[in-house]
Amino acid sequence: MTHKRAQRPANGESSLPDMPWYLPKQPALRKTNQAVVIGAGIAGCTAAVALKQRGFQVQVIDRHATAGMEASGNAQGIVYPKLSARDDFLPRINLAAIDFSSNYYKPFWQQGLGQQCGVLVVPENQKMADDFVLIGERFANRPEMVQVVQQSQLHALSGISLEAKTALHFPNLGWLPPARLCQQLLNDSAIALQQGHVAALRYHSESGNWTLYDENGQALLTSETVVIASAYDCKTLPQTAYLPLRRIRGQITQLPSTPESEKLKLVVCGEGYFTPAERGLHSCGATYNLKHFSTEVRAEDHLANLAQIGETDSGLAAIIGNPELTHLLGRANFRCTTPDYLPIVGAVPNLQAMLDDFAPLRRDAKTILSARGSYLPNLYVNCGMGSRGLSYAPLTAEILAAEIAGEQPSLPRELLNALHPARFIIRDLKRNRI
Ligand SMILES: Cc1cc2nc3c(=O)[nH]c(=O)nc-3n(C[C@H](O)[C@H](O)[C@H](O)COP(=O)(O)OP(=O)(O)OC[C@H]3O[C@@H](n4cnc5c(N)ncnc54)[C@H](O)[C@@H]3O)c2cc1C
Repeated sequence: MTHKRAQRPANGESSLPDMPWYLPKQPALRKTNQAVVIGAGIAGCTAAVALKQRGFQVQVIDRHATAGMEASGNAQGIVYPKLSARDDFLPRINLAAIDFSSNYYKPFWQQGLGQQCGVLVVPENQKMADDFVLIGERFANRPEMVQVVQQSQLHALSGISLEAKTALHFPNLGWLPPARLCQQLLNDSAIALQQGHVAALRYHSESGNWTLYDENGQALLTSETVVIASAYDCKTLPQTAYLPLRRIRGQITQLPSTPESEKLKLVVCGEGYFTPAERGLHSCGATYNLKHFSTEVRAEDHLANLAQIGETDSGLAAIIGNPELTHLLGRANFRCTTPDYLPIVGAVPNLQAMLDDFAPLRRDAKTILSARGSYLPNLYVNCGMGSRGLSYAPLTAEILAAEIAGEQPSLPRELLNALHPARFIIRDLKRNRI
């Protein structure tokens, strides 16, 4: 491996690639079209479908017998936007994701699974309201995706009286029941779901296969290609333990509808979210808690969610009346978040080889290197969906399956790099922190 502290040519071009760590040393070779996906949440189920669409025979393994039993298990999940007036990676990727997912979910919505009812985002403060004007200007040519609306339009759109002076309206977004969505995604003869807790993964270089083991060391499955989509539990497998994931508890509250609240036609998001009623129940939430790691439903979290409704818009608080704590239902689970709030999707790096090959970055983050990245053979990860798994998962699954199948990526390289599993290794080498 060679390295140097080089000047780039004046025209900005270099014979060395800019970020060679993202380019694999050798292309991933595959003999079979069989894949195992670990995790039957929205990340794993969408990955399974995207692989199946490319002719793969897919086996999904989950510690539960049914799909969508953990984070992807709420009654109503919102396909959320996160746009910005700035041209950063996060809003660009979010835009690509909501564009993709609003089409992806159309057939489900048409079958009556959830509703493509539109999502209204009300500003949490004046700065956000000012940003909405800039977002409106920036996306003026995408009215089917987003429009800035004024108070006079809100009643007709939402069906209720809202206090907000302005809002962003996303007519193509909506909500879905994530667990039922996961189960429907796996309802396919080319995809099998097996129950099992994956405690270890070992590569056999002679056969070129990975074997998955349970906690007793019993082999569960063997496959050439494996996708790890086990959310925060990626950290329990040595190959992905380095990922800087955080587990954030969240609780949603379901509350009975009232004659007034039944009129709500779309999802309202602000400090929290509030959905149109489904079979007499609205969902709202959700809490963020870094210190509690139980899935027990807590009364104080219900109270926090109810308080958040009023903080989102006092018009929402007015339509729900004063629901009794004993009439509330809830569910708690864990988000899997990343330091930059973007998912992690792509080939799993060979950590030690990356640390060795890119060690010069510790001394000088600007060192130009010729080595390429080292990746574990046919092992991939799709996780870190944070609070927006429904928005991101269809797109990240597509990115992943395209990479596995050796297709041209559908996103610009810089956005793929922003999602790349090696980005934290390089970041930490540059900070000399790994
Ligand atoms: C309260 C709350 C509200 C939310 N609201 C929304 C919302 O409105 N909209 C939205 O887009 N997102 C929302 N989210 C976030 C969303 O739920 C997640 O982004 C998404 O569900 C993550 O999907 P996933 O497949 O990565 O993880 P999960 O759904 O958790 O799936 C991981 C799967 O892996 C399995 N697994 C883990 N380890 C192993 C192992 N070792 N062996 C076998 N199986 C294993 C688990 O059983 C699980 O089924 C919310 C989250 C919470 C907690």
